[in-house]
Amino acid sequence: QADLAMYQAKGAGRNGLRFYDPQMQAAVSRRAELEADIRQAILFGQFVLFFQPQVDQTGHVIGAEALLRWNHPTRGMVSPAEFIPVAEDSGQILTLGSWILEAACAQLVAWAADPKTRALTLAVNVSSRQFRQQDFAQHILDMLDYTGANPHCLKLELTESLLADNLDDVIVKMSALRARGVGFSLDDFGTGYSSLSYLKRLPLDQLKIDQSFVRDVLTDPNDAAIVQTILALGKTLGLKVIAEGVETGEQRDFLVVNGCNSYQGYLYSRPLPADEFLRYVHSCPDRGAMP
Ligand code: C2E
Ligand code: MG
Ligand code: MG
Ligand code: MG
Repeated sequence: QADLAMYQAKGAGRNGLRFYDPQMQAAVSRRAELEADIRQAILFGQFVLFFQPQVDQTGHVIGAEALLRWNHPTRGMVSPAEFIPVAEDSGQILTLGSWILEAACAQLVAWAADPKTRALTLAVNVSSRQFRQQDFAQHILDMLDYTGANPHCLKLELTESLLADNLDDVIVKMSALRARGVGFSLDDFGTGYSSLSYLKRLPLDQLKIDQSFVRDVLTDPNDAAIVQTILALGKTLGLKVIAEGVETGEQRDFLVVNGCNSYQGYLYSRPLPADEFLRYVHSCPDRGAMP
């Protein structure tokens, strides 16, 4: 909360931080510390990607989402929810983002060697600030060439905040990547500014229903209606729909009945280190097997 207040204060005074109270001061120094730490962490290899399975209706693994973890020497595992906003604000997300993409591509290359993992897609979160870089598309294409990863197996997760940008520019970048086979998913869908006319114009493959709607889908009629609307919208626009934050069999059943294509959440697995993810894939039913 203190971090958030700091964030807002900084927004109010663009050309310098303004200190309102000691609590905020503490947040500022914690943030500065975190910023210096991120720089070190990249150098010392403290970041690691975890992989959370994405499955179809039969429980067959069709891919994963790469989720960043920071193994901090004194603080332990620091959540991305805490340090990604700091990295975005400081601009370090650009360096970190390159590292993430290279690590993700390297993982795809490793998966390509095993028939069980060869066809898996890997979804990588991209922050708006990264995507706004003029050379974003070329950067990804260079990374694919450099690593030899299959572009058709790479999926980029964008958030709705991008829709507030120059939409033509967004479309140009997405189209350049899509021409090479890279897929796009709209993350946390339903929580941001969605204009349906914008949505129609974007070269997307998938909508990702935000976990906040999935959480209470069985008890809150509004959330149930929102989930059903997103599933219907996906169908109308010819987009796949994945649900995130699926924790119970009842939630999955609701989603299955309403035509959801794919699922991700603790019901299947938490995000796993690469070796455990591999074990998970090998323990799961093959495509088309009965659930
Ligand atoms: P996200 O992209 O929406 O990722 C989904 C978050 O939900 C992840 O949190 C995941 O661990 C969590 N989750 C998955 N299944 C469940 C479930 O069944 N129940 C609940 N309660 N939570 C579930 P995580 O890993 O802490 O990441 C938080 C956010 O940090 C991500 O939200 C994403 O916005 C950001 N992030 C993570 N990794 C990266 C990255 O490599 N790059 C960028 N730019 N952002 C990242
Ligand atoms: Mg995501
Ligand atoms: Mg999400
Ligand atoms: Mg989310």
